[in-house]
Amino acid sequence: MQKKALITGLTGQDGSYLAELLVEKGYQVFGLVRRSSSGNLDRINHLADKVEILSGDLLDQSSLMDVITESSPDEIYNLASQSYVPLSWTQPALTAEYTALGVSRLLESIRRCKPDARFYQASSSEVFGQPDESPQTEQTAFRPRNPYGVAKAYAHWMTINYRQKYGLYSCCGITYTHESPRRGTEFVFRKITHAAAMIKLGMSQDLKLGNLDARRDWCYAKDAVHAMWFMLQQDKPDDFIIASGETHSVRELVECAFRCVGLNWEDYVSVDPSFYRPDETVQLVGSIDKIRKQLNWQPQYSFEELVELMVDHDLKRLSEK
Ligand code: GDP
Repeated sequence: MQKKALITGLTGQDGSYLAELLVEKGYQVFGLVRRSSSGNLDRINHLADKVEILSGDLLDQSSLMDVITESSPDEIYNLASQSYVPLSWTQPALTAEYTALGVSRLLESIRRCKPDARFYQASSSEVFGQPDESPQTEQTAFRPRNPYGVAKAYAHWMTINYRQKYGLYSCCGITYTHESPRRGTEFVFRKITHAAAMIKLGMSQDLKLGNLDARRDWCYAKDAVHAMWFMLQQDKPDDFIIASGETHSVRELVECAFRCVGLNWEDYVSVDPSFYRPDETVQLVGSIDKIRKQLNWQPQYSFEELVELMVDHDLKRLSEK
């Protein structure tokens, strides 16, 4: 029988890649979309006739119950949230409504309407905040340092509590930064690949960056959504870190991106202290030992391959303009 999946956050980077993957695997895919975001379907336009959009909102319990009853999904992926960290400081209560309480409403709706559905909760490395160890594992203590991280920590534990208390098949994937051509240019990875392509094409002359020594654990969004799906195919629900397991510096990233377009980055890049972040002392890097051992999952794309595919994408897109 054809499997059915419901995705919240369908219009985001991960939602769009996950929908593609599930369609490819023969699923009937439903997407929960807020009325207000239905104008922004850019990332899923190419899937328009393959995905069924249902209107609902994580702020509204009865809409979630209706959507779950109507779609009767085998798998539910919660990828929706208010995920912009600076906004979580200016709108902390709204962030908690979507990112924390939204998950309560979703879990409660599953328990009442479709208790045998499998549930994936998108946890984030932001729950670790300033961790006391590096790399982080599934056992590392949560020390979130912004309202978004705090809300994600609540959602994480609620997901585990519903598994323990009600026996739901609910699990959390703790994802680190993951990138793709569908990422915005405010994030440093896409900012750099986009700028390298612009400079190569003569559309820009320079690039201003913050801390070149900052290091991140970057993985490809396509790899990450594959891990999410994989987690829900196991006999028992469990929580996993989804990451590349290695860090690279912004300097390596910029070097690699400019190499891809045949330029020397030092001729174009300058440092602008306004892009510096406070408190970047501890490295956020995920240990992927557990997911590698238990699920036999690991990223298919290396750091260099990811840089290259994003530079190529930006070159192509900009040349078409
Ligand atoms: P996020 O912090 O994981 O949400 O991802 P970003 O892509 O915004 O930032 C990743 C890292 O790049 C941080 O450690 C920043 O300090 C560093 N960084 C260095 N230069 C820049 C820059 O020009 N823009 C941004 N966004 N980050 C930069």
